[in-house]
Amino acid sequence: MSRIPLIAGNWKMHKTLSATRTLLAELNQAVSDVEGVEVAVAPPFTALAVAAEALRGSAIRVGAQNMHESEEGAFTGEISPVMLTDIGTNFVILGHSERRALFGEDDELVGRKVNTALAHDLVPYLCCGETQQEREANETMSVVSRQLRAGLAGVPADQAAGMVLAYEPVWAIGTGLTATPAQAQEVHASIRALLADRFDDATAQAIRIQYGGSVKPGNAAELMAQPDIDGALVGGASLDAASFAGIVRASGAAR
Ligand code: PEP
Repeated sequence: MSRIPLIAGNWKMHKTLSATRTLLAELNQAVSDVEGVEVAVAPPFTALAVAAEALRGSAIRVGAQNMHESEEGAFTGEISPVMLTDIGTNFVILGHSERRALFGEDDELVGRKVNTALAHDLVPYLCCGETQQEREANETMSVVSRQLRAGLAGVPADQAAGMVLAYEPVWAIGTGLTATPAQAQEVHASIRALLADRFDDATAQAIRIQYGGSVKPGNAAELMAQPDIDGALVGGASLDAASFAGIVRASGAAR
């Protein structure tokens, strides 16, 4: 099955409103002629409404970097799925390694958020990945499998098919270290086998699995050429229109 590559930018805690408008205007122009690749951006909460407005009529999708598992309530400082859909958000990144490591999100919480997102027609981009220590201890697949089984708990196959997964080895995020295409492909293929076991073959083939971890214009093509790598979740390089567009172009050319 051919899956359209999806290149998504996770802006993390970067960009004011004016910087958001500037970056999106540049990006819209830079990728307007690229075909066969889906493009998405996840600005900070404060810039989401402005981003959705700036991208009205554009094919670029807008998503959030996190959300609360409930629709509303006394949760100071949190953002609900209802608020996200209200301003035109299409997707939400869940279980990013920074949320897990810095904000104490565990596998079960991430699973509840995935179910809430699906119930509100937000596409979950479910992240997983091992630390350097876990890789060295040969625990990569046991960690990834634990994160995904909990993250997908209760999700029916027809809803899972529309989801996006992101394999992001923690040691490659923001470090300049990238998994080799062979290392990434090996994990992606194992994830696809896990999905076939958890759901069925057709569902496993439909789910897009992004790679994330220091993806740049110079290494995107060789990663995207791997059969089970269906796009990229991009941090640092998504903050600059030229570098993000370079990744989008390289990915389109590689498939
Ligand atoms: C990320 O945080 O999802 C990420 C992949 O970051 P970077 O591209 O900067 O490694």
